Parts: sequence; C-alpha cells; structure tokens
Amino acid sequence: METRLGCPCGETIVGEDSDDLVRRALDHLGQQHPGRSYDHEEILLMAKWQRENADYL
Ligand SMILES: [Zn+2]
Repeated sequence: METRLGCPCGETIVGEDSDDLVRRALDHLGQQHPGRSYDHEEILLMAKWQRENADYL
C-alpha cells in the first residue's frame, strides 16, 4: 500500500491509505499545480516507484 508521495515541488504528501493518498495528492495538484492532471493509477505508480527508489527523495 502506498501512503507517501514526494511532489517535485518539495512537498511530501502523506495519506492514511492508498485512497487517502490519491485524494490528498489530487488536492495538492489542483491547488499548487493547476493544469497538470493525473489519474488514480498514475499517482499510485509514482508513489510505488518512489518507495522502491527511496534515495530519489
Ligand atoms: Zn507540489
């Protein structure tokens, strides 16, 4: 389960579970990065990739 997502702007988004993470990430994107849109799957894939490549953060 993915619960953390590092945004390229430096913000780390933390959710209680995967669905919460996606909801918070979409909120953040909508407020801070309007014009970019990602779907549920893409956000979870990014979070998974970051978790598996932890030195990226
Ligand atoms: Zn951001």
